[in-house]
Amino acid sequence: MARVSLSKIEKVYPNGFKAVHGVDLDIRDGEFMVFVGPSGCAKSTLLRMVAGLESITGGELRIGDKRVNDLPAKARGIAMVFQNYALYPHMTVYDNLAFGLKLAGTPKKELDLRVRQAAQLLEMEHLLERYPKQLSGGQAQRVAVGRAIVKKPEVFLFDEPLSNLDAKLRAAMRVRLTELHQTLRDQGQPATVIYVTHDQTEAMTMGERICVLKEGVIQQVDTPVALYEKP
Ligand code: ADP
Ligand code: ADP
Repeated sequence: MARVSLSKIEKVYPNGFKAVHGVDLDIRDGEFMVFVGPSGCAKSTLLRMVAGLESITGGELRIGDKRVNDLPAKARGIAMVFQNYALYPHMTVYDNLAFGLKLAGTPKKELDLRVRQAAQLLEMEHLLERYPKQLSGGQAQRVAVGRAIVKKPEVFLFDEPLSNLDAKLRAAMRVRLTELHQTLRDQGQPATVIYVTHDQTEAMTMGERICVLKEGVIQQVDTPVALYEKP
């Protein structure tokens, strides 16, 4: 867990388009923060800047105590869950979960422990031997989340993770992800989360605080209750 501070963050794309205009935001240790807003409001741009997938053209980004503007993604202590799951089709679920740790040289015993803990947390121990094409959409999404969990990152980044699921599964996954955040907190490993969505229901039911964006500017940052009372 770590706090994430955005200070006067700007993004000017190479074609000269200014997508983000001086965003200031402090995301607390262990907080579940949702970025919400219509298509084009720059929520993905902001998330990708935090992830190290997009350069920061102005301002300062800090994760924990470190300025990370110029750090590569690998060195930022983050794990990202993508909309399209990005699972390796030729690997079992177990190996999908283990792959990143293997690359990082994690000792085998530790790797096995972390994979099994993540599988338990996400109730997918029975899926470890399957291949991605043998999974339902919701199961594949759980594996994608599991792949982030095994890394024990400081910060979890979610980019519209439920938008490929049908409405019923989406509702179930909203609950599951919220419970997971609570479980990690109860276990003394609170996870800082930045969760991007265009779905207002997701934002209102999952966010501890919600950051409403419009055209690269923050319009409001508040709790769901406060936003509901003064929209
Ligand atoms: P959102 O995730 O909220 O839909 P994006 O962050 O994808 O919004 O985009 C924010 C704005 O930046 C949009 O106007 C988009 O057209 C623009 N944009 C995104 N990527 C690029 C790029 N590579 N070059 C120029 N403009 C871009
Ligand atoms: P490798 O082939 O990468 O050397 P092993 O097959 O020797 O790994 O397995 C090492 C540990 O990883 C075992 O203790 C086993 O519990 C676990 N493991 C490996 N593959 C799977 C799998 N598909 N399902 C469940 N556990 C697995």
